[in-house]
Amino acid sequence: MNVLVIGSGAREHALCRSLSLDPAVTALHCAPGNAGIAEVAELHQVDAMDGEAVSALAVELGAELVVVGPEAPLVAGVADAVRDAGIPVFGPSKEAAQLEGSKAFAKDVMAAAGVPTARSYVCTTPEEVAEALDAFGAPYVVKDDGLAAGKGVVVTDDLETAAAHAAGCMGVPSTPSGQRGSVVIEEFLDGPEVSLFAITDGVSVVPLQPAQDFKRALDGDEGPNTGGMGAYSPLPWADPKLVDEVLETVLQPTVDEMRHRGTPFSGLLYAGLAITGRGIRVIEFNARFGDPETQVVLARLKTPLAGVLMAAATGGLADLPALRWSDDAAVTVVIASHNYPGTPRTGDPISGLAEVAAEDAPHAYVLHAGTKYDGADRDTVVSAGGRVLSVTATGTDLTEARERAYEAVGRIGLDGSQHRTDIAAKAAAGA
Ligand code: AMP
Repeated sequence: MNVLVIGSGAREHALCRSLSLDPAVTALHCAPGNAGIAEVAELHQVDAMDGEAVSALAVELGAELVVVGPEAPLVAGVADAVRDAGIPVFGPSKEAAQLEGSKAFAKDVMAAAGVPTARSYVCTTPEEVAEALDAFGAPYVVKDDGLAAGKGVVVTDDLETAAAHAAGCMGVPSTPSGQRGSVVIEEFLDGPEVSLFAITDGVSVVPLQPAQDFKRALDGDEGPNTGGMGAYSPLPWADPKLVDEVLETVLQPTVDEMRHRGTPFSGLLYAGLAITGRGIRVIEFNARFGDPETQVVLARLKTPLAGVLMAAATGGLADLPALRWSDDAAVTVVIASHNYPGTPRTGDPISGLAEVAAEDAPHAYVLHAGTKYDGADRDTVVSAGGRVLSVTATGTDLTEARERAYEAVGRIGLDGSQHRTDIAAKAAAGA
């Protein structure tokens, strides 16, 4: 199979790594990719937001499957353009991607499908905002309606901060697809969070293994929200029936509702969940693999990936044999640039990559996100974004996976970089 992956993050590196290990994959391309992906796939330049350009590239390469990694191209309709060119694509249509592209749309689908989520108001004026904040009380949860790379949400006890974020969301137009200038205010959900991914062809739904990610920048869940600073899987503390329950109460009803609306959702449905005292609640849906959870989920998937993605893209999921999973645990630790999640410093050389490959493989390996080669020769890799590397490790349990991940992190040198030291710590300690 000839596969083209669109994207350039550690999620796409994880996808490309798994695809490169699949004997069915005979040619692997990635656009635009990064310095790490270049080791397993042939890179191509493309504007990932331009559907015509992506489908032209897919045709030129003879791709038999296109996998769209990030949300922005999906919301912009890139999967539709590729599908129109007659090439199977893993990723939802522009209309179906609204499950992620607009939080107000997602709330509407959940209400229609009877999916449990936080009570919420969609507001477009400061008066509506004040009323909604007053109705729910602290802690306040204020969300930009449109795409915001995981950074559009503020959870705060301070009324002024909440109102100011809401004003900011309403003042600046959100993405073209998001409802312009609207903000979602919702009930605070108290309880541990779980990310559950499911593969779907629009009819059948196959859940993957649950993971937990760490959104805050600093240890102890302090600091600002980020795109994600680390993740682990499995979740030893979770109810073994969790996956079945989420499939029945969240994933299948949502996929059914989307199909009944005439906008079937195929690709990856990501449910961000809170396990509250009153039961499971959906925090958000995403329309693609999550980053950094993908790094740990794919580290544990034993079934070759290409056939699974192809079945979702072409409608054969019901015939797919049950997925096989490793009993190993996996941990990923994100190394981010100086000043992330603010404007990150880039262009710093990264050292230690060869040492990790020599000393820690196959149990620990480095997935690249914001990296590039410094110049034409491939001697030096430099930072090129906020999240730079996802150091991923497996072990017989979370304690071993954690130790291996942090040992590898210790070999990496990147001036001014930051990482959390407590990824999976509580779960490993049985807390
Ligand atoms: P989202 O972009 O919707 O995933 O939100 C980012 C993060 O904000 C989530 O992972 C939660 O940690 C937090 N969050 C979002 N909504 C709520 C809520 N209703 N109650 C508590 N925390 C929330």
